[in-house]
Amino acid sequence: MVRVRFAPSPTGYLHVGGARTALFNWLYAKKMKGKFILRIEDTDITRSTKESEKLIMDALKWLGLNWDEGPDLGGPYGPYRQSKRKEIYQKYAKKLIEMGKAYYEIYEPGNTEKPIKRTEQFPAEEIKNGYSVVIKFRVPPGTTSFRDLLKGEMVFENRYYDDFIIIKSNGYPTYNFAVVIDDYLMEITHVFRGEDHLSNTPKQIMIYDAFGWKIPEFMHIPLILGQDRSPLSKRHGATSVDHFRKEGTLRDALLNYLAILGWSTEEEIFKVAQKVEEFYPEKISNKGVIFDYKKLEWLSGQHLRKKDVEEVFKEFVEYLLFINEDMNLASDEYSRNVISICREKVNTYKQLLDISRPFFCDDYDYEEAYVEKFLNKEFSKKVLTTAYEYFSQLEDYSIENVEKVLRSIAKELELGTKKVFQTIRGAVTGKLVTPGLFETIHVLGKEKTLKRIKRTVH
Ligand code: GLU
Repeated sequence: MVRVRFAPSPTGYLHVGGARTALFNWLYAKKMKGKFILRIEDTDITRSTKESEKLIMDALKWLGLNWDEGPDLGGPYGPYRQSKRKEIYQKYAKKLIEMGKAYYEIYEPGNTEKPIKRTEQFPAEEIKNGYSVVIKFRVPPGTTSFRDLLKGEMVFENRYYDDFIIIKSNGYPTYNFAVVIDDYLMEITHVFRGEDHLSNTPKQIMIYDAFGWKIPEFMHIPLILGQDRSPLSKRHGATSVDHFRKEGTLRDALLNYLAILGWSTEEEIFKVAQKVEEFYPEKISNKGVIFDYKKLEWLSGQHLRKKDVEEVFKEFVEYLLFINEDMNLASDEYSRNVISICREKVNTYKQLLDISRPFFCDDYDYEEAYVEKFLNKEFSKKVLTTAYEYFSQLEDYSIENVEKVLRSIAKELELGTKKVFQTIRGAVTGKLVTPGLFETIHVLGKEKTLKRIKRTVH
C-alpha cells in the first residue's frame, strides 16, 4: 500500500511551497487509495514551537488536506512527533555503532571544535565528567545513487561527504538521521518533498544502505520562485497559507493554483479533489515555477463565481468567524441574494465583505467622495425626494421596474443618468462602487431603500 507523508518542522507558518508539497502527497495517497501521514519534525528544540505546529495543522485542515495518521489522530506507527521518538533514534544509532558504521565522538566541555576521541565504546566515564558526546555516521567509500521520479538517476561520489552527526550532544537526532528511521519504521513508500532537500538525500540513502533497508521512491519537487527566480520568500510578498486565508482567498482557488503550478492539466480552473485520478507525479514540471499573486487572485474570483451560492454563503460565514468579524449575516434569502450580486464584482471573501457590508449594516458611513460631491447638495436632495416618492408608489419591485423608475427620474429632472444613479447609489449604500444599481435596489427591497433614502436626505 502507498504510504506518503508530509513532515513539516514546526518552526514557522505553513509556506505555500510546503502546502504544495503536502497537496502532491495528499493527491497521490488519494489516487492510490493509500495513506497520507502527518509527521511533526520537531527535533530542533530551540526553534520548534507548539504555536507553529498548530498554525501548520490549522492551515492544512483549512485546505482540506486531511491526514490519516498524525500526532493528533495517532495511528499504528506512532508517535508521530519526532521529539517523542528519541529512544528509537538512539537505539538505531547504537545499532550502527555495533555494525561499525558509526562511532562516538567526544569533545571537552566547552570545546565543540576539536574532538578529543573517537570510539565505538559507550563513553560512560566521559559523559559522567561532562564531556559532550555526539554520534557520527561513517561515510563509506564509493558512490551513492538513487532514482528521482522527476530528475532520473542521481549519482553522488561519497568522497565529497564528511562523516556526519546523527545524534547531537543533547541526545536528539539530526534531521537526516531521524527522517530515515521514521520513513523506514512508518513504512513510507514514496518521499515527495521540496528540491531544497536534494542535497540531503545522498546522506539519507547512505543510512538506508548501511542498514540494508530498501529505499523509498523519491521525488524532489522544484521550488516555487519569486519574480526574480529566487526561491519565493517574504521579500517577494506574503508566503504563508494563513495570509491567503486571512485575505479571503478561496481555499479551492489556492489548491487549484498550487496544483497548476507545475502540473499541466487541460483545464485551468478546477476543484482539485475532482482531479485526483489525473494526477501523475512524474508529470510535474521539473522547472521552478514563478508564483503569480495576480493569477491566484483571478482564480479566486473564478471559483467565487462558479460555486454554488449556498457554499459561498457557508464559506463566507466561516471566513467572518475566522477573522473575528461580527457582521450580522442572517441565514436567509436576503443574504443569499446580496452574495449573488456582490460576488460578481470581487475575487476574495475579504473583498466580498467590503462590498456587501452596506447591505448588512443599516448604519453605514458615506464615503468621502460621496459626502463631498453629493451629500446635501441641491440637486441630490431633489433626486432623492423624487426617488422616495416614485419608489414608494412602486408595487412590483422587479429589477425591470426599478430600472424604469431610475431612468424616469433622470429624465424628469433633466439630469444625466450617471449623476442621478450615483446620487441614489451612494444614498442607499454609502459607496460609489457597488454591484449594479438596479440589482442593488431590487435586492435591498422597497422598505430598506426607502429608509435609506430618508436617512440620507435628513
Ligand atoms: N522537516 C523537513 C522540512 O520541513 C521535512 C523534509 C522531508 O520531507 O524529508 O523541510
